[in-house]
Amino acid sequence: MSTKAFASQADLEEKRVSFVRLSDNAYAYTAEGDPNTGVIVGDDAVMVVDTQATPVMAQDVIRHIRQVTDKPIRYVVLSHYHAVRVLGASGYGAEHVIASRDTYDLIVERGEADKASEIGRFPRLFRAVESVPPGMTWPTITFTGFMSIRLGSLEVQLMQLGRGHTKGDTVAWLPEQKILFSGDLVEFDATPYAGDAYFQDWPRTLDAIAALEPRALVPGRGAALTTSEQVAAGLSGTRGFVSDMWASVKAGVAAGKDLNAVYKETYATLAPKYGHWVIFDHCMPFDVTRCYDEATQHADPRIWTAERDRQMWATLES
Ligand SMILES: [Zn+2]
Repeated sequence: MSTKAFASQADLEEKRVSFVRLSDNAYAYTAEGDPNTGVIVGDDAVMVVDTQATPVMAQDVIRHIRQVTDKPIRYVVLSHYHAVRVLGASGYGAEHVIASRDTYDLIVERGEADKASEIGRFPRLFRAVESVPPGMTWPTITFTGFMSIRLGSLEVQLMQLGRGHTKGDTVAWLPEQKILFSGDLVEFDATPYAGDAYFQDWPRTLDAIAALEPRALVPGRGAALTTSEQVAAGLSGTRGFVSDMWASVKAGVAAGKDLNAVYKETYATLAPKYGHWVIFDHCMPFDVTRCYDEATQHADPRIWTAERDRQMWATLES
């Protein structure tokens, strides 16, 4: 294997933004595989689901929102704690920032380390990083399991359907319209990042999403899924990647192979099927490392730091 540039440092090409209307109340801000933002417009207020990586990038989301409504942006929901999703939060001036208690706990435990790590991995995704306020983005409201918020007559349900991409994963659901904002639990034509994942739980959480029978779904990355067939494709693609990786890594561990050997084998097994998805080469070393940990001695993901990122990359990609 030739030496690859660390993570996504060589990915410099700007993506084209789409702002797709899913209903009178729901919109998807997507960008060809870059992190998505969901927008929910109620009778009296707007809710933003995931914020973009910086307040300057949030301004572009706001510009799109202002083309469809002048209602105040009152709520920001964090689907999970990753910096690329949360560091734009201050840009919206929302009254409330909502996250699960598990996400709050992860921000306390590893938010600072994650911020430094993510900015180092993917500089393009942190445009105008100097606009990010110092410190962490703190939720002002936390919940456990389920929370219902009414935007006038429109009900939004925030739910933890199980662990997967992280332990704090939260989805936003419009029950009357059957529209789901999944965060990184579901990706479409984009590689799931699984460096902080729970591989054995993730497929069950996807079952819980499927049981809601969404008619539209905004994934964490990739195009908005606007038919039940597309939703099914998003769910099965994500499930296939997670399950195939777990099976490959588990077999390698059972055969007594070390991480390096398991990585090279798993890369070769998954590349023909998933190698065309965006950020495949970025994610694979982190994903296999976490998967190997879960299959051996780490029930919970270990904290990634900027230093640990580099050491891991040097070990697996040299
Ligand atoms: Zn994430």
